[in-house]
Amino acid sequence: MAEVTEGEGWEGIVPIAVLALGIVGYLSVLTLIALGVLGTAIGLMGGAVSSLMIISGAVFIYPSIRRKDDGEVFICPRCHERVGRRADSCPACGAELVSED
Ligand SMILES: [Zn+2]
Repeated sequence: MAEVTEGEGWEGIVPIAVLALGIVGYLSVLTLIALGVLGTAIGLMGGAVSSLMIISGAVFIYPSIRRKDDGEVFICPRCHERVGRRADSCPACGAELVSED
């Protein structure tokens, strides 16, 4: 079952916006170099800044997805089925699970 999460929307949007801006910036720089508008040195600097934005955006997005996944799912110690964290018994084998909260 999907849970309604509150207040997480905008935290997730920032790195996605950084990533998107980095990609757009990178493509713009490449286009401007191809058109001869930007010199090679300035173009390389712009490319480096855009790459950093893409990398930092991706780094922020990836761990938050992993952390969320680890927090919501519990592995049954008896049958190794993936079980929701709030379940108090395994739906697959019926083993009782100790909840952390
Ligand atoms: Zn089980």
